[in-house]
Amino acid sequence: MYQVLGNIHVHSNYSDGNSTIPEIARAAKAAGLAYVIITDHNSLEGLPEEGFIDDVLVLVGSEINNAKHHYLALGITAEIPPNDSDPQQVIDAVNRQNGLGFIAHPYEIGSPLVFNKQHFCWSKWEISGFTGMEVWNWCSQWRDGVRNLPQGLYYAYLNPYGPISGPCPQSLARFDQISAQRRLVAIAGSDAHAWPIRRGIIRRTIFPYEFLFRTVNNCLLLESPLSGKLTEAKQQVYEALRFGRSFIVNCRAGNPAGVIFTASDGQREYAIGQVVPFTDNASLQINCPHEFSGRLRHRIIHNGKLLDEIPGCNVSIKVTQPGTYRLEVYIHKKPWIFTNPIYFQTSSTQGGD
Ligand SMILES: [Zn+2]
Ligand SMILES: [Zn+2]
Repeated sequence: MYQVLGNIHVHSNYSDGNSTIPEIARAAKAAGLAYVIITDHNSLEGLPEEGFIDDVLVLVGSEINNAKHHYLALGITAEIPPNDSDPQQVIDAVNRQNGLGFIAHPYEIGSPLVFNKQHFCWSKWEISGFTGMEVWNWCSQWRDGVRNLPQGLYYAYLNPYGPISGPCPQSLARFDQISAQRRLVAIAGSDAHAWPIRRGIIRRTIFPYEFLFRTVNNCLLLESPLSGKLTEAKQQVYEALRFGRSFIVNCRAGNPAGVIFTASDGQREYAIGQVVPFTDNASLQINCPHEFSGRLRHRIIHNGKLLDEIPGCNVSIKVTQPGTYRLEVYIHKKPWIFTNPIYFQTSSTQGGD
């Protein structure tokens, strides 16, 4: 498997972001990313700029809706009208274009410091057909964590990583609840805008693109290297995201190069996102480079419940029950990697891959 690291949920100056797409691509290159996905609000204006810019694959989707139910639509070619009150209409419209879609920052609460707690949450859950959920949104969760001005100044100037402690717990719980029933894909979003803050003598950009591109990213697992041709590369990225062949990585904690997750039914190996036949010899393996020796803890989550917590660089776990498994890796206490699920199913529960 080839790891391809990139950032999803980025706003350019086609909506309320502060930079052009080429400037954003340069920031992604500086941060060492292979791809970046632009999602401007209710706009596909950047679509003609899709392609490789400074060796970075730039793809363009859209974040649809206004007051609530923000939905990241990827792989679409025609703009979809917002429908705040009936998000199922938006989900269906994305699917009709064979696109894929992710619920964005569903449990956002807002901050008293920013537009008086204005927030954009997701309240309607009687929905179907969405590809996945953004369980970790860097900017949204940072803002949610800033409750007053002294705290805001402290976090803005002295400790920009302060309020961030991993995925949003409510989003992750909702993700676990749904993914116990069906395939669901977890992504992280930066929600990068590079907002310029001007308040009195305070002059600050919250946060520059390059800063965010070094925080929480999505590592895709491809069967072949990322193509240099736009059409092929786009398909590789979107197929990996559609089937959950990816994991979320907090690059502040460590580089994921060399980290390998595999599942086995005793006969052959499977990757993240796949359906694995549940057998007497079913297992999960985690292999991490030895440079992390003595610092790692692996949490094994089964149908949303913590099954085990294991230290070490190389871990093998016997799987004794069918169900949905995902893995979390911590370096010391820092959240590092959150994988998409692997689905162990008996022949009676297998619904195809
Ligand atoms: Zn949003
Ligand atoms: Zn956004």
